[in-house]
This record gives sequence, C-alpha cells and structure tokens, in this order.
Amino acid sequence: MSAEIIDGKSFSKNLIEKVKNAVSGIMFKYNFKPGLAVVLVGENPASEVYVKNKVLQTEYSGMNSIEHRLTETTSQDELIKLVDNLNNDDSIDGILVQLPLPKHIDEQSIINFISPEKDVDGFNVTNVGLLSTGGNGLIPCTPLGCLLLLQDYFNDLSGLNAVIVGRSNIVGKPMAQLLIQSSCTVTITHSKTRNLQKICKEADILVAAIGKAEFIDESFIKNGAVVIDVGINRLPKDKNNRSKLVGDVKFSPVSKVAKAITPVPGGVGPMTIACLLRNTVSAACKRRKVKEPEM
Ligand code: NAP
Repeated sequence: MSAEIIDGKSFSKNLIEKVKNAVSGIMFKYNFKPGLAVVLVGENPASEVYVKNKVLQTEYSGMNSIEHRLTETTSQDELIKLVDNLNNDDSIDGILVQLPLPKHIDEQSIINFISPEKDVDGFNVTNVGLLSTGGNGLIPCTPLGCLLLLQDYFNDLSGLNAVIVGRSNIVGKPMAQLLIQSSCTVTITHSKTRNLQKICKEADILVAAIGKAEFIDESFIKNGAVVIDVGINRLPKDKNNRSKLVGDVKFSPVSKVAKAITPVPGGVGPMTIACLLRNTVSAACKRRKVKEPEM
C-alpha cells in the first residue's frame, strides 16, 4: 500500500484564487481593499523568508500589503506604539507580528495588545478564548489549514479518533480545539506523555507538530490512518553542501502504512499563508460589517 498524498500546495493555490476573487468582489461591491500589515523585528533568516512570502501572496491576492521592518534593538514600548498605530489605522484589517521576537520583548503581551478583530494569527487571548468556547473569532492559520485539508479528505470528521503530538499555543492546542468542534475524539500528547507510540497507534488522524525531524516512524501509525505532518525541520548540510527540509514524520515508511499523508514540503506549509489571507478577508468583512464572501 502507498498512501494518497494530501496535496496542500494545490489546495492552497485554489484557496488563494478564491481569496483573490473575494477581494475583487469586495472592491467592486463595497469599494475597499483589505489591508494586511506585517511587522518583522530583527533579522531572523527564517522569518525573513516567511515575511517575504506573506507580502508577495498578499499583493498577489489584490490586498494592500504594508510591511514594517524594525531593528533587533527595538524596545517593547516602540513595538507597542507601532501596534497601537496599526490598531487605530482604519485602512489596516489584519496585523501580523512575525514570531519569534527578540528575547528582550515579551511576545504574549505584544500579541495581546493587537486588537482582537485585527489579530489574523489568532493568537490573542480573546481569539484563543473564542476558539475554545466555540465563538466566532479568528483561528490560527496553521491548524486552520490542517482542518481544511482534513475536511476536504473526510467530508465528515465526526467520531474519528484524532491524536495530536505537540501542545504549543500556535499549533497543538488550537488544533485540538478545532478537532473537538468537528466532533473527533481528541487526545493531545507531548514530551511527558507515557506510551506515546501506543496512543498514536490508536489514531485515525495523527497530527505531528513536534519540531523533531522524522520523529514519527511507521511504528506509531495504525494501518489506514491519515497523517498530517506540521513539522518543518532543516537537516544538516550533506557532503554536497545541500540541506533538505523534512517533517516530523518519516515520510517513506509511514506512507506504506497510512491511507493518506501530507508531504513536507508541499503539505501544511503552503496552507498557512493561504489561511492568513483568508483570515485577513474575514477580519476585514467583520470589522467593516459587510457580508463575508464564500472562500
Ligand atoms: P513547539 O512550540 O516547540 O512545540 C513542540 C511540541 O512538541 C511541544 O508541545 C513538545 O512537548 C512536543 N514534543 C517535543 N518533543 C517531544 C517528544 N519527544 N514526544 C512528544 N512530544 C514532544 O513547536 P511548534 O511551534 O508547535 O511547531 C512544531 C513544528 O511545526 C515545528 O517543526 C515547526 O517548524 C512546525 N510549524 C510549521 C508551521 C507551518 O506553517 N507548516 C507552522 C508552525 C509550526 P512539551 O510541551 O512537553 O515540551
């Protein structure tokens, strides 16, 4: 058996086209362009790449893209001041402060300072609370992307056994909330979990969000499970000075046991940006009190 590949790259392309259509419909009907502001503090190379892609895709979808690049030595107060300006800027519908922030800045207090209605990353405590109480807030992009892929694959998730490896605020916990809302039976596991392999082997859906290259091998997988690999890990350079990106799942052996699997790259990664654009359009429509288009 060889698992079906869940093609996040092509799904995300479709989603971005839907967002693009939604944006042109909004401009035609309501005469405004949704705007996304991205804030980058310091010079983290991975963050530079993420921000560049976000800006390019925002522009491609027809939205206003505003970029703020601040130096590594920016103070907490200076960053708060910028976020305050963006909160009060009526042309800005979404604010994304790229994480991680330099160590001297308290990340959570910056995130909580973003106006919840513009918090397109969905990390603000208000949106976290809304998600856990079934409210209509903004949902973190990566788990939202995973959910869209799973809904597309299964149509109905109810009653399925879902195991999530990882309990971070940005992936594991919101993923659990989304799967609970979809009526899965959810188990969330982490580095202190006992019998991890045994628990994973019960899963109809296994979501790996660990940050450890190829940690999950075929011994964790039930025959016919669907595997969502959130991990993005860069392996050390080989003798030809090439480095490779891999997930948290050992793709080849796991694909022999699983029914379907997301590849890395080309699985969950591209869904994150597509969901960010979708969230920005949703935020714009909610804040400006216009009907949200289908996306
Ligand atoms: P994180 O904050 O470091 O969390 C990792 C989680 O994995 C923690 O809950 C940790 O448990 C758990 N863990 C670590 N070692 C484990 C072990 N041996 N057994 C079981 N659980 C273990 O990471 P994250 O931000 O959630 O990211 C996870 C991965 O997803 C990373 O590779 C990241 O690059 C990737 N990611 C991808 C996207 C995307 O767009 N595709 C977006 C975000 C993240 P404890 O809580 O007990 O420490």
